[in-house]
Amino acid sequence: MSSVLRVISYLKRYRLMFGAQLFCAVLSVACAAIFPKVLGYTIDHVLPEKNFTLFIQLVFVTLLGFFLKDGLNSLRIVINNHFEQRVIFDIRSDLYKRIQNLPVKWFDSRRTGDVMTRVTEDVTAMERILIDGVEQGIMAFFQVIIFGVIIYLADWKVGLWATLPIPLLMLGAWIYTRNARDRYKGPREASSNMNALLHDNIAGIRQIKSFTAQEAEHARFNTHSNALRKATLRLMAWWAGYSPGMSFIAMLGFVVVLWQGGATVIEGGMSIGDFTSTLFMLNLFYDPIGKLHQINQMALSSRAAADRVFEILDSDEEQGVSQGGGFPAPVKGEVRYEGVNFSYEEKATIRNLNLHVPAGQTIALVGATGAGKSTIANLLNRFYEIDAGKIWIDGTDIGDLNKTELRKVIGYVSQDNFLFNGSVRENLSIADRDASDETIWQALEAAQAAPFVRELSEGIETVVGERGVKLSGGEKQRLAIARAILKNPPILVLDEATASVDNTTEELIQTALNELLKGRTAIVIAHRLSTIEKADHIYVLEKGQVVESGTHADLLQANGAYATLAKTF
Ligand code: ADP
Repeated sequence: MSSVLRVISYLKRYRLMFGAQLFCAVLSVACAAIFPKVLGYTIDHVLPEKNFTLFIQLVFVTLLGFFLKDGLNSLRIVINNHFEQRVIFDIRSDLYKRIQNLPVKWFDSRRTGDVMTRVTEDVTAMERILIDGVEQGIMAFFQVIIFGVIIYLADWKVGLWATLPIPLLMLGAWIYTRNARDRYKGPREASSNMNALLHDNIAGIRQIKSFTAQEAEHARFNTHSNALRKATLRLMAWWAGYSPGMSFIAMLGFVVVLWQGGATVIEGGMSIGDFTSTLFMLNLFYDPIGKLHQINQMALSSRAAADRVFEILDSDEEQGVSQGGGFPAPVKGEVRYEGVNFSYEEKATIRNLNLHVPAGQTIALVGATGAGKSTIANLLNRFYEIDAGKIWIDGTDIGDLNKTELRKVIGYVSQDNFLFNGSVRENLSIADRDASDETIWQALEAAQAAPFVRELSEGIETVVGERGVKLSGGEKQRLAIARAILKNPPILVLDEATASVDNTTEELIQTALNELLKGRTAIVIAHRLSTIEKADHIYVLEKGQVVESGTHADLLQANGAYATLAKTF
């Protein structure tokens, strides 16, 4: 289905508003005919007869005509605004919902700025089809039909002359529209590229400053900005030819009618009043034709934007979020990976992985970066689907589970964890929407975060800034731990922070972690010796494969890969 038709399909939900707009449009256009009619009648009858009373009455009729025309127009605009904003709201809401439900893999190859451009700018550009397209289109359509009919009824010959330019106008519109998709796509894509860079550079402003890369980045920004300028100019150049060209052709019709009609008046075949009235009608007939070109332009631009919006709406949602069963019994937390293979792209990332974590125990995953540790955690959450093998929790294949149920029992704590730009409370209550203040404070206490939160300017209501920028690394880590404590899941995946903190903070974090790990099954992506030593079992990974496993003491004694790695802790 074409994008334009799909936008229109959103309008169907608001049939009543749409009908009310149509009603106002038709009446308003009909009222516009009052003035030319009154004018013609006045010139031919009232003025020659010097009928002053009728003349004054007709002036009032004209005034009433204009008042009704503009009053109805105002009402139509109000209805249209509500109508259009509801439709935009629906599209944006559908779009956000879809984005949130897309698989993690989808986001891997997307630029945030591009997605944002689609939700904000492109949806707004689609709006043009609704406001200007539907609104002006309806008006223009009725205006052309109503005045066309009036002109034909008054004098069919004049009507024929008046419609003479129409085939030419249609040809012009066809030529302009034929290869317009690319022209209109250009500025949208250029704008998206520019926004993607802007988003990236704002997020990375510290890096840009510390590498003193402002000049180079400014140049990169200007390259994108320039591409946008060129794409927009290309569009404008076509418009500069098309719009006045079409206007000229339409005016040719005007000239022909002036010529033919004038000649008929001279020959006595038509009164001056009828002739003047026809010329006014003609003006009202051609005026919307000019608008139709603008609407064509808007529809094309909207279509390019709508294509980009519908591309997201048509992307496949993450499977298994609400399909599949739950756990047959309360989860104890035994985790088992059996012969698991997985690759992000072609290259195998995880190969024949076998892991076992008895309920309540902690295992540590160690290995060089890129060995596949985080991937193992991703697979447990089913952020990505495994290619072969099975992952079991308490003997239930997680592939058969509903992802919502699965993710409820897993806590994921990366200590470089993501904090939202909200208050401490908002950041914590994402784990439990109904948590009382008391529960939140208990979690903060357990995570050793309560003392510093108390000292924040507005305590628990203090806004932490984007990604928690207003907090120190150690503070962010403890909030992340508090959040996991609040979620209280039986299984925990813990990605230890690589950044080191001072000894006091380190001790606080360790106490918080001990509190968090108590009674839970934990898979720890470990970087610190203290954590690794405490683990019940250690798995050493190399290139997606387990090369050694055992306790710290066993592995040191084996003097293999672990012993070499341990020297770096
Ligand atoms: P570790 O956590 O041990 O450092 P990862 O599990 O993050 O390792 O990465 C394992 C391999 O998978 C690396 O080669 C990495 O480049 C690749 N990889 C990680 N995430 C993705 C992704 N989203 N898309 C493609 N490849 C990825």
